[in-house]
Amino acid sequence: MDDLQKARLAQNEDFFRGVNDRINEKAESHGLDSHRYEFFCECSDATCMERVLLTLGEYEHIRNEPTRFVVKKNHVIREIEHVVETVPDHMVIEKHGEAGRVAVDLEGETGSE
Ligand SMILES: [Zn+2]
Repeated sequence: MDDLQKARLAQNEDFFRGVNDRINEKAESHGLDSHRYEFFCECSDATCMERVLLTLGEYEHIRNEPTRFVVKKNHVIREIEHVVETVPDHMVIEKHGEAGRVAVDLEGETGSE
């Protein structure tokens, strides 16, 4: 896999992160922090429509690290990411190398909007 491919994979994940941010914003206005909401799997497959269940606190905990994403089990590409947390419903992954740098760059762009 070359750097361009890795960068594209990171951009796919950034798209779903944007969708999940909006889910999070909407859910926050209801203020039910013990409720589990459906977030989209943030894996590298742009066609993946799987959902993961997270409380708002769990989601924000993951979002605090720009290189971390939440994915369904076995939606991990070990070439560009590694698993940092496994729970029955989902996995938390962290990007490394070029994909990690792209994720951080994209985070900077969305932050300045
Ligand atoms: Zn997926």
